[in-house]
Amino acid sequence: MDIHISNTTSHEDYAIYDNFPQHLCKMCGKCCKAITTPYSHEELVELAKKGQEEARVFIEIFKKYDSIEAARAAVPDHVDNILQIMKRNKDFDISKVTFYYCPHLTKQNTCPVYATRPDCCRRAPRNGWTIFPPDCGFAGWQFMQRERVKETIRKLKEYLLELELFDEDYVIPERNITAGELKKIINERIKPWEEFGAKLW
Ligand code: SF4
Ligand code: SF4
Repeated sequence: MDIHISNTTSHEDYAIYDNFPQHLCKMCGKCCKAITTPYSHEELVELAKKGQEEARVFIEIFKKYDSIEAARAAVPDHVDNILQIMKRNKDFDISKVTFYYCPHLTKQNTCPVYATRPDCCRRAPRNGWTIFPPDCGFAGWQFMQRERVKETIRKLKEYLLELELFDEDYVIPERNITAGELKKIINERIKPWEEFGAKLW
């Protein structure tokens, strides 16, 4: 049995290792004008104080809108789209939602700190599920990313089925690990995508 599980399936890998098609950006500036995180502002500040680098950089760069309405006034479709998608989460709590904007963005929607922009900008859209405006130039790219991930997950599930034919302690010759260990590795690869529905793919 030839089992290949070298396809990367972590959230990060798909954006970082791709040849990123920056030319797809229409420079509407919407993604720089309304940004949110899964944390409340207080939680984010706390994480930054504890030395979490991504939180620290985020707090340092982005400025907080006074209210959701203020963010909506700047980019209505983007803010409504984000809220609509966030509401699907059963733990959604609107009182925790804070929107931010980037003070660097120019009137022409260019980034004057492009060479040194933070990682969160460098990687955006991070994967096929990152919430970007409905008319973002990356919409088609994100669709292809989602399809690519789904295809990989489906292959991994096929490998899992094949592994069911073996005892847990059977050593897979070409990998020198047991079927049980390999199943564990494959399940770990699938797990990060469960929040996007991987169980149903
Ligand atoms: S929302 Fe999309 S098209 Fe608009 S600036 Fe951001 S990446 Fe570019
Ligand atoms: S640093 Fe540049 S790319 Fe990042 S949000 Fe600001 S203007 Fe946009």
